[in-house]
Amino acid sequence: MNIGVLALQGGFVEHIRMLKEFNVNCIEIRQKSDIITHHFDGIIFPGGESSVIGKLLRELDLFEPLKKMIECGLPVFGTCAGMILLAKHIVNDQRTHFGVLDIHVRRNAYGKQSGSFKTIDVFKGLGKIPMVFIRAPYIEKVGENIEVLSVINNNIVAVKQNNIIVTSFHPELTTDSSVHRLFISVIQASNDNKLQKIDV
Ligand code: GLN
Repeated sequence: MNIGVLALQGGFVEHIRMLKEFNVNCIEIRQKSDIITHHFDGIIFPGGESSVIGKLLRELDLFEPLKKMIECGLPVFGTCAGMILLAKHIVNDQRTHFGVLDIHVRRNAYGKQSGSFKTIDVFKGLGKIPMVFIRAPYIEKVGENIEVLSVINNNIVAVKQNNIIVTSFHPELTTDSSVHRLFISVIQASNDNKLQKIDV
């Protein structure tokens, strides 16, 4: 299984380190040739600064090909800035980026850096897991096809829409790899679906 990790800015190294626990091949995506020369089963958008990553994606000509891949059903896992990049609506920013995930997200929703925090709380299907929030967004509203996976203090912080999973927090900064395992199971299910379609 090939998982691409967007490696333009932010916390991509931690995702790659966490994926080492699994039998997957990690490919850093830094330039267009990285997506042309590889096949991907899934892709991770790490945390960082969504405005910077969005700008670099466009400047490096990665934006359109990645958007097409996501629209064609490529499984994606976005953490924090990754969630913002995927959102259809950013309530406190005029920009949108991929605009594929039917959520209204608020950037820096917990205030400045000092509003960053750690907690241990419930994630649907995974029980209680550690969560690290760093200048994190949260989701104010979700569309019909969204499955809510975690709510902390009345704020939605993790959702799933078909093959897309996003978290406001950073599981890759903890020692708990269960959200990554969940993402890998989404990729496996998507690959199985493709095989079934070919069989028909
Ligand atoms: N505050 C950042 C943004 O708006 C996200 C922070 C993060 O990814 N940890 O893009």
